[in-house]
Amino acid sequence: METGARPAFGSASNPAPRDATSSNGKMLEVQDLRVHFRTMDGTVKAVDGVSFDIAPGSSIGIVGESGSGKSVTSLSIMRLIDPPGWIAGGRILFRGKDLTKYSEREMQHIRGDDISMVFQEPMSALNPVYTVGDQVAEVIRVHRDVTRREAMNRTVELFKTVGIPVPERRVRDYPHNLSGGMRQRVMIAMALANEPDLLILDEPTTALDVTIQAQILELVKDLRRDVNTAVLLITHDLGVVAEMSEDVVVMYGGKVMEQATVEQIIKDPKHPYTKGLLASMPSLGMRNQRLNVIAGAVPNPLNMPTGCPFAPRCPYAMDVCATMPELKTLDDGRKVFCWLY
Ligand code: SF4
Repeated sequence: METGARPAFGSASNPAPRDATSSNGKMLEVQDLRVHFRTMDGTVKAVDGVSFDIAPGSSIGIVGESGSGKSVTSLSIMRLIDPPGWIAGGRILFRGKDLTKYSEREMQHIRGDDISMVFQEPMSALNPVYTVGDQVAEVIRVHRDVTRREAMNRTVELFKTVGIPVPERRVRDYPHNLSGGMRQRVMIAMALANEPDLLILDEPTTALDVTIQAQILELVKDLRRDVNTAVLLITHDLGVVAEMSEDVVVMYGGKVMEQATVEQIIKDPKHPYTKGLLASMPSLGMRNQRLNVIAGAVPNPLNMPTGCPFAPRCPYAMDVCATMPELKTLDDGRKVFCWLY
């Protein structure tokens, strides 16, 4: 059975042996990742030399506006980049093994089992003609040697875990019978069905109202604590990252602008783009206040500046910014891609 438009969840029957780390204690290491897209007008470098790593049980947030390359980065980890896009360089080491070298069949063992992903819009990832219970149970059955009944019992348990009321009844519902918040819970149940080492959440709450958003984030925190799943959170909202993650990667124009702990970023942002993102965050009690949005727009990816990609919007831009800066490590351990440092 197909579980939806996106092939996010695998269809293999033999799960890979589970060992959450490589020999250096890292679970996932993204090294100098480059992802390109061929277009009629030329090649777009959607991700251009991005590196970060994730330890088991930890959480990292990738933040940036649309077009920054953050979602393409997460899709690359799942190996869901379709032509005309391709991984043009770099390595994605999962438990020390390079996923960029895996065949599609090998990736099917990984997806939905070791690494799972929740997309922004759950309707696009759920199949409208099957019940939500059948779809989650199927994800369990393709990775585990269990009967249909055992898989459904586990699905009911998962629905209970993610806060779906009357789960015994809800498993028989079709996606269109559920609210947006409940569908997103089904997607999280599906992503957690096989207790993945890594959960990727791509704007998981953007389409939801504030109350449901808070409930879903609380749920992910509980699951992280209880199951020790590492979380890679993709969002445009630094506030969500501050609540959910320990580390932040700020992306712009396919590159890392700043990489630091949440505390460093919130208390003392260094990169002008990070400062702009923070200034555009509504603070508590100031919901009605006019926000400082970053002036200008994300550059056309086919016509990027030759130097710093943020230069056309940067209030600190200098002559030297017409040449490309490097990602420098500062004394406090953070990394900044800017000539000011
Ligand atoms: Fe601004 Fe220059 Fe730093 Fe780019 S390198 S963020 S243009 S100061």
